[in-house]
Amino acid sequence: MRRPFVAGNWKMNLNRAQAVELAAGLAAKAGEHGHVEIGVCPPSIYLEAVRQSLGNSTIGLGGQNCYHEAKGAFTGEISPAMLVDQKCKYVILGHSERRHIFKETSQDVNKKVLAALAAGLTPIVCVGELLEERKAGRTGTVVQEQFDGSLAGLTSDQAGKIVIAYEPVWAIGTGVVATPEQAEEVHADLRKLLESRYNPAVAASVRIQYGGSVTAENAKTLLTQPNIDGALVGGASLKVDSFLGILAAAK
Ligand code: PGA
Repeated sequence: MRRPFVAGNWKMNLNRAQAVELAAGLAAKAGEHGHVEIGVCPPSIYLEAVRQSLGNSTIGLGGQNCYHEAKGAFTGEISPAMLVDQKCKYVILGHSERRHIFKETSQDVNKKVLAALAAGLTPIVCVGELLEERKAGRTGTVVQEQFDGSLAGLTSDQAGKIVIAYEPVWAIGTGVVATPEQAEEVHADLRKLLESRYNPAVAASVRIQYGGSVTAENAKTLLTQPNIDGALVGGASLKVDSFLGILAAAK
């Protein structure tokens, strides 16, 4: 009942020509993967170029971040409405690089989630523990704190509109992927949280993506877990063939 959702987070990679080429390559093949919802999140400066290159394909566009205010003197920031104006459907919020490099708190993420929802965007809300937190047996606590903090004040109706991405920080960009069992355990806990904080319908419908060193090779075993509904992909989303391989695994 949950349609798989695979999104590429291009991060701060590619130049304009490469972004356009990648988008065109994916657009040409997207029709073969109609069972999957597909998104790409290019650097914001290339949103327009990528949008044109995607043409009429079913691939949705997303931002990698936004600010919570609607407009004003916030040098360097982008509002949710600006992403909508660029025809974005999604925005990644609370990515671990935002949390750990740019020191975003769950409170910051919460304001962004509410602003993104108000603008009509689908927030992809990221949560995940550091290696030392996992080693200390704190994964469940950390993920729950990030979940509660980032989603504070959402109604059940609003919660039903988000996507969650579980991304263990130790697996991001490291080539060390979580085992399907490790990921499934956290995904199942997240689904229980959705049920206890909202209701069974929200828990049954919200997609929970896994992210962290997903490749065309390891995607199948992850995506066949009962509570893993897709992937948020960094490195392997930068090449047409590897991203298509992940889409193929999401059946
Ligand atoms: P990765 O990044 O696939 O390169 O590990 C995932 C992410 O940061 O979303």
